[in-house]
Amino acid sequence: MQQRIGFIGLGIMGQAMAANILKAGFSLTVYNRSAERCMPLAEIGAHVAATPQAVADASDVMILMLTGPEAVDAVLHGESGLLAGACKGKTVINMSTVPQSCSQQLNQQLQGRGITFVDAPVSGSKIPAQQGTLVILAGGAESAVQALEPLLLSMGSRVIYCGEAGCGSAMKLAINLLLGTMMEGLAEASHLAEASGLSSATFLQAVAAGPLACGLFRIKEEMIINGHYPPQFPFRHMAKDMQFVQQAAADRGVSLPVGSLLAGMFDPNAPVALLDQDFAAVKCLLQ
Ligand code: NAP
Repeated sequence: MQQRIGFIGLGIMGQAMAANILKAGFSLTVYNRSAERCMPLAEIGAHVAATPQAVADASDVMILMLTGPEAVDAVLHGESGLLAGACKGKTVINMSTVPQSCSQQLNQQLQGRGITFVDAPVSGSKIPAQQGTLVILAGGAESAVQALEPLLLSMGSRVIYCGEAGCGSAMKLAINLLLGTMMEGLAEASHLAEASGLSSATFLQAVAAGPLACGLFRIKEEMIINGHYPPQFPFRHMAKDMQFVQQAAADRGVSLPVGSLLAGMFDPNAPVALLDQDFAAVKCLLQ
């Protein structure tokens, strides 16, 4: 019998990922804290559960795509939470970006209840999520990750096995440090170009024509030129992730000079109007 999938967290990413699971032919039950976000999935054939507990009861594999550790905790342990449901012998995949230590704790906690845990955060934003071309960074028992590949590949084009539980999260934070560095670099270089009397479109053309051309710069081109930053990867999520990066560096005793500067720029206490924009809006901070 085909695995029954549960999906919790239908935000920017989860909405598109859950739709791709359905399109791949899996039976899907969804839950979202704000119930109206379940409607588009219900319209294309998903069952809607009233609580995380009901998702567990109806599923063999439960996927979480939530803001961060607090949201994961609320969904697992809150009233009518996932762990109140029939979870024993089943699998929980956390695809939210959380610290490595959080994934390691989740693994211990869930293993103790007879649940298989895999951390599988993603590289790629709203458009790859819609296109099913995310890169999935998986941590956990290799056999468990292999068994989940058909499901994971309904959402992504590659599954990269990173190591034991927590390694997917560690990989994601290293990648987001690079992502933040590259985005801030592009914003800063285009800021100088504009201040020097160059058009940002011509600057970006010159970048794209040479060895610095890359997918990220192509995706952010329109935002940099127009100065409008509709959220794909919200600034608030990058700010959260830069805090996790700082903590990881402190725990490991490594110095990240640029990472420290970025944590100051991607400030979780920035005005809400900035937090709600795409992280490319880091350009607005430059004077
Ligand atoms: P999002 O649009 O902000 O969605 C967050 C989801 O978490 C929503 O479904 C929200 O429910 C739910 N949630 C938050 N707090 C909750 C709580 N206490 N209890 C229950 N549910 C709660 O976020 P997203 O952009 O889809 O990102 C999801 C995760 O993927 C984050 O960890 C992010 O860092 C990571 N990520 C994002 C991107 C991207 O480009 N957007 C790329 C890679 C990775 P409501 O609808 O009720 O608020």
